[in-house]
Amino acid sequence: MIRPQTCPICGKELAPEAAAESPHFPFCSERCRLVDLYRWSEGQYAIVDPLTPEQQLEAEMERLENELGEADEV
Ligand SMILES: [Zn+2]
Repeated sequence: MIRPQTCPICGKELAPEAAAESPHFPFCSERCRLVDLYRWSEGQYAIVDPLTPEQQLEAEMERLENELGEADEV
């Protein structure tokens, strides 16, 4: 039996076929991949944060978006 692969960031289930082909594997999307990278680079996995995981993710998304937004501007 194949265990469903889930995105380590948002917990979304990935279809095995999709996961195998995804350039973002094991994440569901570029966004989640970047969030993971970002967390590691900030060392946030080692920090006990009073925020809930959802709040933390939201805050990180916002910071990420700001960073990506600068490079993305047309
Ligand atoms: Zn995800």
